[in-house]
Amino acid sequence: MNATRQHVSEPTLAGSDFRDLTLDDVEQVVASAGERSYRARQILHWIHARGAESFDEMRDLPASLRSYLKLNFRIGHPVSSFVSRSSDGTRKLLIRLDDGEEIESVIIPTENRVTLCMSSQVGCAMACEFCATARMGLHRNMTSSEMLSQISAARRELNASEEITNYVFMGMGEPLANYPRLVRTLAIMTSEWGMGISPRRITVSTVGLVPMMERLLNETPVNLAVSLHATTNELRDRLAPINKRYPLEVLLDACCNLPIKRRSRVTFEYVMLAGVNDSIADARRLVKLIAPLRGKVNLIFFNPLPDSPLQTSSRAVVEAFQAILRNANLTATIRESRGLDIAAACGQLCAEQRATD
Ligand code: SAH
Repeated sequence: MNATRQHVSEPTLAGSDFRDLTLDDVEQVVASAGERSYRARQILHWIHARGAESFDEMRDLPASLRSYLKLNFRIGHPVSSFVSRSSDGTRKLLIRLDDGEEIESVIIPTENRVTLCMSSQVGCAMACEFCATARMGLHRNMTSSEMLSQISAARRELNASEEITNYVFMGMGEPLANYPRLVRTLAIMTSEWGMGISPRRITVSTVGLVPMMERLLNETPVNLAVSLHATTNELRDRLAPINKRYPLEVLLDACCNLPIKRRSRVTFEYVMLAGVNDSIADARRLVKLIAPLRGKVNLIFFNPLPDSPLQTSSRAVVEAFQAILRNANLTATIRESRGLDIAAACGQLCAEQRATD
């Protein structure tokens, strides 16, 4: 690393998108330009706090540094190319990436929050039976810069009185299958040199990639949501095939081994599928599985997919299911469908379909 710092004419990380870089990286760049290290924070402040889209805007940098940066680096800023607005205030952003791929993000205003649902991959390889994104297969991982562009695109769509309060990686993709870039994104989001967002306001949702889940919880303080959906391996193998690699007992063991404080913050997501996983026996098995963890359960109305025989459970069934969990002293909430009229609801994100319909 020191060797590179001496080569003033050969920048480290040449060609990089600055929105992908951490403070360490930018300090290296600044050193390779022969500048003092405090310039790194100055540049990152321009990008993440002031939303600069070009080096020219960074007027308090020496002109020589600005031209060096312009010559050797770029600042990526994919923009939302299409916004759909739901009658319930939910807004879905279609974001076009540089290579023409498209991803979706959703702004969900509720009474006292504005949640941004973010994507982490173009498509997904996890093949869950009930999910629209799964039908695309995996096109590619998103870069950190691309993940972050969802935040700037969303901020541009907010009303003057709105501010994003919560960030959830529950859009397209399996965030933990894009681990290094996800962790970099989280570092940029939560660092004081980056966006300064509190990690408590960020939730990463996973289908249950156990080794990466354990790493994430050791390496970052963000919240974790685990998509459970079934109480037997037989059913989970079918609904979320990754279960064949990390079966229920392995997944729940990993959660059980978390320190109690972390454990009590894990949310288990459970998509309610009529006649598939919504029986009283399912609810009782779920209690047995989750009770030792003190985790929370979030029951989700299934949002129907075209050409799928799966149907959502009725409200009465979902409420009866919730009552069983609550009677066992578990925290169980029901997630209402939002943005259904613009195909922005849970599991409906699938840019490929949107682009061709
Ligand atoms: N891959 C990650 C994050 C993306 S999916 C994960 O599996 O958690 C985010 C949430 O939406 C998951 O809980 C997922 O099970 C749920 N979901 C997917 N398709 C859905 C659908 N059609 N209706 C309701 N929820 C769905």
